[in-house]
Amino acid sequence: MNTNPYAWIEQSLATIHRADWYRSVQTIQSRPGAKVILEGKEVINFASNDYLGLAGDERLQNDAIAAIQEFGTGSTGSRLLSGHRELHRELERAIASTKQTEDAVVFSSGYLANLGTITSLVGKKDLILSDIYNHSSLKNGAILSGATIIEYPHCDIATLTAKLHQNRHNYRRCLIITDSVFSMDGDLCPLPELLDIAEEFSCMLLIDEAHATGVIGKTGAGCVEYFGCTGREIIQIGTLSKALGSLGGYVAGNSNLIDFVRNRAPSWIYTTALSPADTAAALAAFQIVQQEPQRRQQLWANVDYLKQLITNNLPKLKILPSQSPILCFQLSDAATAVIAGKYLKAAGIFAPAIRPPTVPTSRIRITMMATHQLEEIDQLVQALEHFNL
Ligand SMILES: *Cc1c(COP(=O)(O)O)cnc(C)c1O
Repeated sequence: MNTNPYAWIEQSLATIHRADWYRSVQTIQSRPGAKVILEGKEVINFASNDYLGLAGDERLQNDAIAAIQEFGTGSTGSRLLSGHRELHRELERAIASTKQTEDAVVFSSGYLANLGTITSLVGKKDLILSDIYNHSSLKNGAILSGATIIEYPHCDIATLTAKLHQNRHNYRRCLIITDSVFSMDGDLCPLPELLDIAEEFSCMLLIDEAHATGVIGKTGAGCVEYFGCTGREIIQIGTLSKALGSLGGYVAGNSNLIDFVRNRAPSWIYTTALSPADTAAALAAFQIVQQEPQRRQQLWANVDYLKQLITNNLPKLKILPSQSPILCFQLSDAATAVIAGKYLKAAGIFAPAIRPPTVPTSRIRITMMATHQLEEIDQLVQALEHFNL
């Protein structure tokens, strides 16, 4: 055999191109915000997870700079060796206080928080029930754990119950995993029903509040707060990189759970601690989330304004059900979605096409920010009207 063992990569890339699934990066040349410079052109930004507009906030920057000046740029080791600083503990206390849990532990990203937590909680003898629309980090955490995985149809409580009836007794532990706000759709998981089922079948419940923290619930504590489930036994994952404007992830819950994760999660034990700058910025963000509820109110006012305009002016638009600042318009295929994304960009609107394999059906995904001006939302709707979506 003298065939090139890497030749298949070029062929696979060609297949990706043919399916209109090819992706590449686009450069932002300004600070994060409601308006950004994208590849040299000013656009209104409907593509960011920076829901509260904190990623460009002076206060986060100042605290990050101060942390660098005091502690340097790198944390130099894992938390259990040389990487731990008092700042990490302060941030973990702020997370636990927001979530009203006994404790929390921060990871270097939300992705790593899911991988580490899921693999520490279940193994070969165990069962995972997973919503089919779950984020990649939940899906890959499940695979890495070695547990048996059963996917249930999106938010389908009846099928979930049936699967548990059929399978629960064959396994030692069982873990139900779900996004709380579904990241590519914008709808919410049925948390109270999931909690009831978890109790009935003696399952642990892990929810990923990546898009909910800072955004949903009266104090921004997430869907657990929104559904009135605060204080119930739930494993709450989240990220510091969306509404909190920094980088990192966390798990919050009771102190035994967190203690266990600190002793068992490989993606926490064997990776370098969160940098001082990221830690300090996230800590500043939690303070702002608590002290400035008006940011969250403005975000929701903007969401309502956009929904109202769509109802009035764009009756044909196929909007996926949403209870969050994520709004998606379904399109017939990947090529149409790419054209729509390009058209919007030419019209000064940054709203990306999301295609398979990220999602089952192609769509344009809009994320609202607290810092969008009403005129900017008007411009989005005008562009959509123009494109006749
Ligand atoms: C973004 C996201 C993550 C990953 O968080 P990072 O901190 O960016 O790694 C995990 N879960 C969900 C649902 C997400 O949307």
